[in-house]
Amino acid sequence: ATAPVVEHPRITVIGTGYLGATHAVCMTALGFDVLGVDVDAAKVAALSAGTVPFFEPGLPEKLREALDSGRLRFTTDFDEAARFGDVHFVCVGTPQAPGSNAADLRFVEAAFAELAARIDRRALLVGKSTVPIGTAARIADEVRTLSPAGDDLELAWNPEFLREGFAVEDTLHPDRLVFGVTSDWAEAQLRAAFRPILDRDTPLVVADLATAELVKVAANSFLATKISYINAMAEVCEATGADVTVLATALGYDDRIGARFLKPGLGFGGGCLPKDIRAFTHRAAELGVGQAVAFLEEVDAINIRRRIRTVDLVRELAGGSLAGVRVAALGAAFKPNSDDVRDAPALDVARMLYLEGASVTVYDPEATQNAHRVYPDLDFASSLGQAVASAEVVALLTEWDEFRSADPTTLGELVARRRIVDGRHALDADRYRAAGWEYRALGLPSGA
Ligand code: NAD
Repeated sequence: ATAPVVEHPRITVIGTGYLGATHAVCMTALGFDVLGVDVDAAKVAALSAGTVPFFEPGLPEKLREALDSGRLRFTTDFDEAARFGDVHFVCVGTPQAPGSNAADLRFVEAAFAELAARIDRRALLVGKSTVPIGTAARIADEVRTLSPAGDDLELAWNPEFLREGFAVEDTLHPDRLVFGVTSDWAEAQLRAAFRPILDRDTPLVVADLATAELVKVAANSFLATKISYINAMAEVCEATGADVTVLATALGYDDRIGARFLKPGLGFGGGCLPKDIRAFTHRAAELGVGQAVAFLEEVDAINIRRRIRTVDLVRELAGGSLAGVRVAALGAAFKPNSDDVRDAPALDVARMLYLEGASVTVYDPEATQNAHRVYPDLDFASSLGQAVASAEVVALLTEWDEFRSADPTTLGELVARRRIVDGRHALDADRYRAAGWEYRALGLPSGA
């Protein structure tokens, strides 16, 4: 017989970074009692005090509501977590391993082990972190051996698809839920944990563990491929005098293709897409199916070439050499509405410009602190005006609204030379040209 399900489970969330903090706050908003757990005491203190230690629109307000409800707490104490939770969501990081394309699973292994060793009753462990195929099955065996609860401690995988910048909305109203499970009990217990979302007829896919793991990396691989596809077309456009922005518009009208993620530009970055496609390539090779996803190496290479091409455009505008040229780099975050600079194309371009001898001033509305931590050698401005003052070339690298809405005439009065590279096709080229700017962008013929 199937063991009884806790209909209103107490939830723990292990790892309270971008994913975990959002998940903890949203599960509280959905009516559950939630305990967030992190090894980072400073993060726990900040969250407990109602401060979100990263930029995510809407999350600070939701955090304070959740704390005020009295149903959300944060701790560093795994004993407390083990006692508290009926369902434990593991949301720790799975970064790229140093010197390899593989995912670094140390944090995931540690989190599950810490927890399992302390749990002595029926409970469900749920992995949410993005992991290589086969990780869940292996961890399921490990936790059963480690835990005093033995077979009463089950493991499921519930991959997460939230987008930074829309994390709250995506968590409360996901396109779909995916449950990777090995028993009816685990499925039923997960259904109880997501009842408020499932009651709204949110699509649910129930799968085995390997398929659930694969859904996440397959989805990210598809998105990365779509971006690199249009950027590969941009390379072709540059060689032929065609215009990739017009091409993308025309392709996007085809419903079978769709306009989303078909935007040419500086390409993808962040804490997910790059490391996920690399980890996938690595894992597929281990599984003997490296050929099947070999194209992802090209997807990665196309993406990196856009950064190099952007540097080329800045150098061309500067007259052939970057040495001593004052460049304003607008943007550091990997995308707008985020302060995340992990594998950020913008920051990578700023670094390459700097290494070629340019005098680079970076400005980002939210990511300056994080960027400064990664590249303390770069200069950072505290406003757009300060960044572009006396610049000889401006490079738009992250398409923040603040940059889109800037007035080309006003900006033109601040710079030393009206020369701009639009790395994201974010600006109205005609307006800039009318205001006396030399405007260059990726995927356009150089004279255009
Ligand atoms: P993050 O680095 O922001 O957060 C990870 C957190 O885990 C940190 O706060 C860290 O202190 C904590 N941690 C590390 N080891 C721990 C341990 N043993 N016990 C408890 N806490 C521990 O990472 P993130 O962006 O939130 O990503 C987490 C996972 O979610 C990754 O696998 C990522 O691929 C996946 N994911 C992220 C997003 C996203 O948009 N950020 C979206 C979907 C999936």
